[in-house]
Amino acid sequence: MSSITGIPENSPHILVLGMGGTIAGLAFNPEDSPLQYQAGQVGVEALVGHIQSAVPEGVKLVSYQLANINSRNLTDAHLTALGTAVKEALLDPVVKGVVITHGTDTIEETGLFLQATCGKLAQTQAKRVILTGAMLPSNAPGADGPSNLLDALRWASTAIDNCPGGIYAVMDGRGCMAMDLAKRHATALNAPLQNSPSSSVGLINPSWLSGVKAVQAAWNEDLPIPQENEWPWVEILTSHAGARAETVAQWLKSDVRGLVVAGSGLGGLHDAWVEPLDKAMAQGIALVRTTRTGAGRILPNIPEADASGCRAASALTAPRARIALQLALNAAKQANLAGKPLTWQDFFARIADLPEIR
Ligand code: ASP
Repeated sequence: MSSITGIPENSPHILVLGMGGTIAGLAFNPEDSPLQYQAGQVGVEALVGHIQSAVPEGVKLVSYQLANINSRNLTDAHLTALGTAVKEALLDPVVKGVVITHGTDTIEETGLFLQATCGKLAQTQAKRVILTGAMLPSNAPGADGPSNLLDALRWASTAIDNCPGGIYAVMDGRGCMAMDLAKRHATALNAPLQNSPSSSVGLINPSWLSGVKAVQAAWNEDLPIPQENEWPWVEILTSHAGARAETVAQWLKSDVRGLVVAGSGLGGLHDAWVEPLDKAMAQGIALVRTTRTGAGRILPNIPEADASGCRAASALTAPRARIALQLALNAAKQANLAGKPLTWQDFFARIADLPEIR
């Protein structure tokens, strides 16, 4: 029995973990204004009950509500609970796969987090963990949640064209590695997959699959899941016209452990930030540089060479780079306590330098 969920189920099943989101949302007046709604209102058991009759025969589902939130309010503690539950499920022989219903606002963070902490385990246990959500609340006409959930359950429970165990996401009839998911549109039904390399659910194309295998071959070891109180404080700052030195300088007086700076274009930062960021690095604050454009690879010597306390984020977007930096700072701390002289940059590189799927 899992210590997180306490589910006393001994027959093979797919575990459905509910986190909330629009997929569990209710609109006040669904016919006239479906986007005026509250996320995280319907329990995961009801969501599963709604599509139960369409689930492939012989697939047993067990649901558990880990949270029922609007994912814009996702906390470190939620990630600790989710990562721990997923890890336990992957190690539990009666759990054959995991589906997670989640809000799409921060599904990008959760996707990267699960890959970095559970990706290797999912691969070696040959189980699929599938994140899904919805763009329309559950009572809206044409709600997309039921079909997304059904696709996720099918993908988690059936052998599809050799697709290996791993951490994936499904939206709008397509699947991708969860670490590639990024919401890049406010309302479109495929918003979380707009710029993600993906493949049709049930019809996975060979080039996508070889990309997945290349990522998995490069991913050697999962990073530890920080305990609730272990997550290092990391903030995102965005460079912009009219940026002021004070925006950075105020962090020098705080306990912040890392800053992700989203530069313009190639990841360049406003000149006003150079001096306070140098001070931040001298103070031991970890710096990661990415781009506010939302896509593209950031390199260490472009547009200018990085100082040694600053790491280019490679293809990680700012929200992903923030999670990666938190995990890397925590992993380095644990390694140092165990007498291994590894730095946060060593761990960050493992996540940032994975092959890109195109
Ligand atoms: N605000 C919602 C959430 O992230 C959006 C969604 O689920 O699509 O929970």
